[in-house]
Amino acid sequence: MLNFKSQVVTNFHENSYCIWSYNNTKAILVDPGGEPKKLLKFIKNLKISITKILLTHGHIDHVGAAVFFSKLYRIPIIGPHIHDNFLLNNLPNQSKIFNIYPKISAFVPHRWLSDGDEIVVGSSVLKVIYCPGHSPGHIALWNIEKKILISGDIIFKYSIGRTDLLGGNTKQMKNSLIKKIFPLFNKSDRVKILPGHGETFFMDQEYIDFIHKTFL
Ligand SMILES: [Zn+2]
Ligand SMILES: [Zn+2]
Repeated sequence: MLNFKSQVVTNFHENSYCIWSYNNTKAILVDPGGEPKKLLKFIKNLKISITKILLTHGHIDHVGAAVFFSKLYRIPIIGPHIHDNFLLNNLPNQSKIFNIYPKISAFVPHRWLSDGDEIVVGSSVLKVIYCPGHSPGHIALWNIEKKILISGDIIFKYSIGRTDLLGGNTKQMKNSLIKKIFPLFNKSDRVKILPGHGETFFMDQEYIDFIHKTFL
């Protein structure tokens, strides 16, 4: 069974998540967006050890502290999909655009992710869902056992991800939602969504209808 805790970081109010199996103290850190000291305190309080860093996409608000933790714990950065390579290359420029100081340097993750890859967390598995649109290399992480989706910036409680940022594509976004994300809900079991910003919520038929009507 999967456990998670989140910590909001930076002026972007980005959710960084620690995810672990309930009987295991080995955890993954998803989207460490910035404020490494704040995140360090958060991790210490959980009394877990981080073994991998996972990234949903290459926007600066999700990756700002990734290299810090990779070096500190000597652990790999995994993801996003290689189509976000240009965003990670472009981090110094993203720093300039959003007035982030000190600047975040460009980096290359230790491993890119593809649709269908599986990430093991203790006795649980997170399946990689490639869902471009908000960015070309955006991925989400799906745990079928607990029906939990770590959704990055593809959906939020009352909206969908922006497509007007660097690398956004409205057609791809629509396609990802309809073909990849909505089908995770299957009448009987609503899906718990852990979004990149804002509150955790459930995706059920009512939510899907609302998103269809309002945004698609
Ligand atoms: Zn984003
Ligand atoms: Zn974001």
